[in-house]
Amino acid sequence: MAIKINDIPPEGLTLELGQKLELFDRGTASTAFKAVLAIKPMKGGILHISGRVQSDPLLECSRCLESFMFNIDSEINFDLAPISSLGPEGEHELIGGELDIEFYQSDEIEPLDIIKEQLLISIPMVPLHDSGCKGLCSVCGADLNKVECGHQRNAPGDFGAFSTLKDLLKK
Ligand SMILES: [Zn+2]
Ligand SMILES: [Zn+2]
Repeated sequence: MAIKINDIPPEGLTLELGQKLELFDRGTASTAFKAVLAIKPMKGGILHISGRVQSDPLLECSRCLESFMFNIDSEINFDLAPISSLGPEGEHELIGGELDIEFYQSDEIEPLDIIKEQLLISIPMVPLHDSGCKGLCSVCGADLNKVECGHQRNAPGDFGAFSTLKDLLKK
């Protein structure tokens, strides 16, 4: 549901969205979200985007590979500027300050892209289903949150290949 920039009234517009989108490019639009987006035209073709997005995407714990629900409730606040406002050196001359600026090139914007990006930056690089997750046994792959297989193994997060490398370096 793209929005033509020319169709945005001078006083701006507010969108309330609630649907599903495809967050991880797996071919399934399975992540439900709720969002409010306010789009307000500023001078120089700049659009100020503000709002809020809430979602509970299913993530995979990076230690034990268990799926878990991650809660996102994130404020949106940035400016969208036309790519033509970039100076020859790629600097942006119209606005100073610390505001986040993104650029658009076409004559329309896609609210779902804005929401998807906001959700993706809200997800930790190393998602953990619990900060105390014990991970998987490096010998047999058992989920150490559920069983104690009794194997001698490396400390959690100390991956087999890496410790082999450390042993090699010691020699
Ligand atoms: Zn885990
Ligand atoms: Zn084991």
